[in-house]
Amino acid sequence: MPEDRKTPQLDELEKGPWPSFVTEMKRAAAKNPAADDLLGLLERSYEDKIGHWKHGGIVGVRGYGGGVIGRYTDLPEEFPHLKEFHTMRVNHPSGWFYTTDALRTICDIWEKHGSGLTNFHGSTGDIIMLGTTTDELQPTFDEFSEAGFDLGGSGSDLRSPSCCVGPARCEYACFDTLDMCYDLTHEFQDELHRPMWPYKFKIKMSGCANDCVAAIARADCSVIGTWRDTIIIDQDEVKAYAESGLNIQRAVCDKCPTRALEFNAETKELTVIPEDCSRCMHCINMMPKAIQPGKEKGATILLGGKSTIVKSAFMSWVIVPFMKMEPPYTEFKDLIRRIWDWWDENGKTRERLGELIYRVGMGTFLREVGLPPVPQMVFRPRANPYVFWQEDEIKK
Ligand code: SF4
Ligand code: SF4
Repeated sequence: MPEDRKTPQLDELEKGPWPSFVTEMKRAAAKNPAADDLLGLLERSYEDKIGHWKHGGIVGVRGYGGGVIGRYTDLPEEFPHLKEFHTMRVNHPSGWFYTTDALRTICDIWEKHGSGLTNFHGSTGDIIMLGTTTDELQPTFDEFSEAGFDLGGSGSDLRSPSCCVGPARCEYACFDTLDMCYDLTHEFQDELHRPMWPYKFKIKMSGCANDCVAAIARADCSVIGTWRDTIIIDQDEVKAYAESGLNIQRAVCDKCPTRALEFNAETKELTVIPEDCSRCMHCINMMPKAIQPGKEKGATILLGGKSTIVKSAFMSWVIVPFMKMEPPYTEFKDLIRRIWDWWDENGKTRERLGELIYRVGMGTFLREVGLPPVPQMVFRPRANPYVFWQEDEIKK
């Protein structure tokens, strides 16, 4: 960083015991003038209390409609290296597993063509390459392609599917999140690279209801692992937990959201009322050696999660309580294609799927994509009466 660049407000963010993005930006600024201008622009934004980026101008690489986001500063005279500072999204591997060689390759390519600044990872899941010029886009993409990487989604297309680490490291996974993420990414290449819809669409997969990728709040389609039968309880391990001092009644049974567990303090036996269990994972998290998910595993499909833009933030709705999740995932792919067709036909510009369902009603959506209404779609009896019988469905 040049000696005359003063960043008193950013310097504050380097204080304290935590790693600081400002420190990393200063390291990049020592080698790259765009990273240095970025420090200056950010300091300026803190002073002015506004962002100094503007929208406008479509940039991209040959054959792709998405994957590059055009960025331009509104102060190009003061910060000439930020006149063009485009972001590239690179599709991440399932579960974010890299070799150090792969990471070095990514960084070398980016130092050669861009600012050297990255964000691992964006909220969609992609590797974010922060800042390059229009002329450098195609050469950067070509080198990434040579190295085996592809761009992720951006704009009104399918965003890069993402998933939790799943069975690679986690015993709770009820389906192979990594395989499904990889499979969907290949299957839906066209949808990923060619923006064609009213707005963005995100698919996220979590192997169980702990939902480590926060799919329920962030994905238009959340696939969350679950089981169809009953949790498996090992009574010897329950006794071992009780004898080790765990207050099973208070810490486990009283916190079961549906009060589906009963603990006998005398016999130290734990029993479940299977039909009351909502498969929330709480008891399994508390006593992983004693309680396991059931044997018949699959996933729940939910729709409509999103952050605020046109309407407020939405959590996802259950639309299929249980679906087997095994390759080649045909049932899921057929359903998601029907949903996309319906959204594409009926959605307004920049209307996410959840907002469209909110506007026209869940009953209409279910009927038009051919899904039967089920009790799991309803929060509690009479709380959510969006499904009505049609005249032709009533047997006289
Ligand atoms: Fe494990 Fe469940 Fe988290 Fe996936 S969501 S990493 S399966 S705990
Ligand atoms: Fe209760 Fe959740 Fe355990 Fe089911 S998984 S028994 S709902 S704590």
